[in-house]
Amino acid sequence: MEHKASKEEDDKRGTVKVVNGRYKPSGIFHFISPNSPIKDEEGKLAGVTNPRDMTYIHSYGGEAVFFEGLGKGKLMASRCDNADCPGNGSIYMPFRIHCPDCLVKTTVVDITDRAKAKAIVHSFMVTERTGAFNTLPTPIKFVNVEFDGVCTILMGALIRGDPALDMRVVPIFKTGNPDYIITDMLWVPADWPADDLPEGYTY
Ligand SMILES: [Zn+2]
Repeated sequence: MEHKASKEEDDKRGTVKVVNGRYKPSGIFHFISPNSPIKDEEGKLAGVTNPRDMTYIHSYGGEAVFFEGLGKGKLMASRCDNADCPGNGSIYMPFRIHCPDCLVKTTVVDITDRAKAKAIVHSFMVTERTGAFNTLPTPIKFVNVEFDGVCTILMGALIRGDPALDMRVVPIFKTGNPDYIITDMLWVPADWPADDLPEGYTY
């Protein structure tokens, strides 16, 4: 059984503003619904269900530039520019705020063109089962994407076609009405027709 917050509850659902650089939450972030007993075949109590509805706050901090970029059709990576670092010049995708070698703050770099020109499937896995709140169609085709000149691998979902090792893939972005989460970027095989992308997504 699925509980949904009532209209009245939803009107009070928590929102967050930033005031003087600090989060200022208002409204309700936790909704509680009555328990239901779980009974065995003889009608004896075996437990309870415990419905809870929470609004999470995900703080992006220094990674916000990455999530904001997706909705604009941009893939923003980060690079260590510390001349004294053995990893100087390394480009990271997934985005890393600080260099893992020297801990100095990285520089934001746009790798959209690089991703469109030369990204390939390093590895992949196809899964029929998903976690709670999954929004991707099943089976999900997870691809580990390798970029030219980037020292890390990015996991994403191939939303058209079937994955194969070393196949060329191209990112698509939810530029229409972005959700500011990782599914704002999905992957399709190179040269996939632009008129067959999921709704709201563009090259
Ligand atoms: Zn470094």
